[in-house]
Amino acid sequence: MSDAAIFDADAFRLTPEEAALTARAREFGQAVLAPRAAEWDRDAVFPMQNYRDMHANGLLGVCIPKADGGIGADFRAYCLTAAELGRYCGATALTWNMHVCSTLWTGALSDTLEMDAPTRALHQQRRAAHYARILQDGAIYAQPFSEGGAAAAGGVAFGTTARRVAGGFIINGRKIFASLSGSADTYGVLCTEVHGEAALSRRDTLYLAIPATAAGVSVTGSWDPLGMRGTVSRDLVFKDVFVPEDAALMPPGLYFQAANRWPHMFMTLSPTYMGLAQAAYDFTVKYLRGEYPGMPPVKRRMYPTKQIAVAEMRVMLEQTKALWFQAISDARPDPSKEQVLRAWAAQYTVMENANALAVKAVRTCGGQSMLKSLPLERIYRDSRCGSLMLPWTAELCIDRLGRGTLYETGERDE
Ligand SMILES: Cc1cc2nc3c(=O)[nH]c(=O)nc-3n(C[C@H](O)[C@H](O)[C@H](O)COP(=O)(O)OP(=O)(O)OC[C@H]3O[C@@H](n4cnc5c(N)ncnc54)[C@H](O)[C@@H]3O)c2cc1C
Repeated sequence: MSDAAIFDADAFRLTPEEAALTARAREFGQAVLAPRAAEWDRDAVFPMQNYRDMHANGLLGVCIPKADGGIGADFRAYCLTAAELGRYCGATALTWNMHVCSTLWTGALSDTLEMDAPTRALHQQRRAAHYARILQDGAIYAQPFSEGGAAAAGGVAFGTTARRVAGGFIINGRKIFASLSGSADTYGVLCTEVHGEAALSRRDTLYLAIPATAAGVSVTGSWDPLGMRGTVSRDLVFKDVFVPEDAALMPPGLYFQAANRWPHMFMTLSPTYMGLAQAAYDFTVKYLRGEYPGMPPVKRRMYPTKQIAVAEMRVMLEQTKALWFQAISDARPDPSKEQVLRAWAAQYTVMENANALAVKAVRTCGGQSMLKSLPLERIYRDSRCGSLMLPWTAELCIDRLGRGTLYETGERDE
């Protein structure tokens, strides 16, 4: 039987495009992603076959503008679609997010930012080449930003550097937790352009496309984590890697403008966990009704304790959905302070509640529900990862929310 939508199209007044796209993702997730999810998790391998199938289905081009041949989903349509995929395979949805952001940030998001006409024309020409590779060849893009220091939190400039040379740049640096490492065709790397001996500045952030096959690129370290095992987030090292000028996924200065004017761009890790929250709830309902496929039809729903637990889970899920839906609907350039505070509250809520719901699901369903033959224990482990992800970890959201609520811009204590 087909699963019901996470966000009912009528109740949440989705656009016709959002309704169609989320239905398509849900059918694909249920039929294709769910049966394979245990395999990627068990072996901690990248879900390459899922990517081949997402290419065939058009999902690799979800945020590529229609004018370039893609589906043309905007930020909210993407988030709603990703939640449906995350419901069936967390690792696929999370890595797909890295891939899609390479097109969302360079596409719909960049189109709302300021650029002079020649810069915009060049940007559109450059991104079209990447979009064509994705649509025609199924090329996969990764998004390695984290370095283990304060840069991925947005505090300081990225330590990975780009030095301008004739015809392009020389890149040096190291990225940690690079999801899709070893499997992506291109790494969309955030780095800082070096200007002589001057200190590195966030204003000089560049977003460059580095081919996986470029000389000087290597993948290091092992990968055997608690959850999100199929993301294969190993380390990436760049040693004197040359890329031509055309490698700029955004013109100089545009990433800095985006990070300041489009804060919701940092919410794109949350849809996966919205999907996992729904998955924990879905599992519990089916399990207690004695309807979980492959399990004996033993009902447990008649016990008042189970009914109360499910009711509490439902309350938490509805709260999470309502806040998150509002926050992804708020996304735009130059949001109000209220909207930014709400985005942090929504990110915190989804990341923490996904895991809280999975914890409660295990406790409520009981011992047999945590066997490896069932998806709940994977949902439990995958959902643990959400609140750790920079730049908007649960801790940082709380930190910014508290300070942002009590202080107006420029206010200080004596
Ligand atoms: C499954 C998975 C996949 C990932 N995939 C990617 C990827 O594809 N690309 C990518 O770039 N990264 C990726 N990451 C990395 C992720 O976004 C974080 O960068 C990483 O988890 C941080 O590691 P840490 O917690 O050890 O960092 P630490 O720097 O040790 O931070 C620990 C905690 O301290 C707090 N903190 C950190 N910096 C500050 C600060 N400046 N001010 C105040 N508090 C701070 C934060 O709450 C943070 O959670 C992935 C992580 C996971 C778990």
